[in-house]
Amino acid sequence: MPDFHEEAFKKIDCLDCAACCKNYSPRFKNPDIKRISKYLQVKEGIFIEKYLQLDEEGDYVVSSKPCPFLGQDNYCSIYEVRPSDCARFPYTDEDVLLKRSKITLKNATFCPIVYYVLEKLLVVGK
Ligand code: SF4
Ligand code: SF4
Repeated sequence: MPDFHEEAFKKIDCLDCAACCKNYSPRFKNPDIKRISKYLQVKEGIFIEKYLQLDEEGDYVVSSKPCPFLGQDNYCSIYEVRPSDCARFPYTDEDVLLKRSKITLKNATFCPIVYYVLEKLLVVGK
């Protein structure tokens, strides 16, 4: 799997895509909120009020789409301190890719990297 992950990232440039940042939100966990607020030099409460809302599972997510930190050029303006979910996405080098198959299949509908890795795994599994 790590080989397919690296291969996929060599072939597909996230800067040409940004489908994840445009259509879905990461969860902003407490450590994410602390780190990003500090980076932006705003109080955590102000950061939450300005950018976040609670979803049905009680997690903070962005209150607008595309993600407010996504630039026109598809660069993330808080890349160095982005939420852990963003740093891990699309999970193609983690075992959750196979353990959480429902989410993986959903991610494969919009993320060409997930699609690529799944396709390769299917060929190997034949
Ligand atoms: S959807 Fe996948 S390929 Fe597109 S930017 Fe996100 S991680 Fe990269
Ligand atoms: S924080 Fe950055 S990497 Fe995460 S969704 Fe927003 S623009 Fe994308």
